Amino acid sequence: MFNQNHFAMTFTLPELPYKADSLSPVISAETIDYHYGKHHLAYVNNLNGLIPGSQFEKSDLEDIIRRAEGPVFNNAAQIWNHTFYFEGFIPGGRKLPSGKLADAIDSRFGSFESFREHFSKAAVSLFGSGWTWLIRDHDCQLQIIQESNAGNPLRKGFKPILTCDVWEHAYYIDYRNRRADYVKAFWEIIDWEKVASRF
Ligand code: MN
Repeated sequence: MFNQNHFAMTFTLPELPYKADSLSPVISAETIDYHYGKHHLAYVNNLNGLIPGSQFEKSDLEDIIRRAEGPVFNNAAQIWNHTFYFEGFIPGGRKLPSGKLADAIDSRFGSFESFREHFSKAAVSLFGSGWTWLIRDHDCQLQIIQESNAGNPLRKGFKPILTCDVWEHAYYIDYRNRRADYVKAFWEIIDWEKVASRF
């Protein structure tokens, strides 16, 4: 057997599509330094330590998320979730969705305002650490779902569209215990063009 590749897949921390201080004051540079520079990076390093010798050496991230359990799942899903979360922002925001996503939001929730209210309520009321998601389900219908800890909708066969991280590390530097204020400000930096492209 020649040239057999024994090296496991290595995961890397993706670059942010904006500068660390450019989402301020909604998300400060200090939060980015910790949330992206330490937490997100730690999930990448943890997973790279767990994969060699496991059954997931040749798997991509989404395959791992669909099949793994325990620490491998937790770290893989947290890498994916954070990349998806950070890539959904743009300095200054683009305030409203347009096109097919806007139509689907109106038809499912009545209006954008009503959608924003429902999503915010789900994010604020999620108990403990986790993620609130806007997803497209098996019938191509939009749904707002809550996932605890590293929970990721790919596991249920759903298509993620938008997410809000409500782990305390996402907001405690800037908002202390005021999660509702973080969720309210979150809407100011959404890149709706990017989000709509996921629909
Ligand atoms: Mn986080």
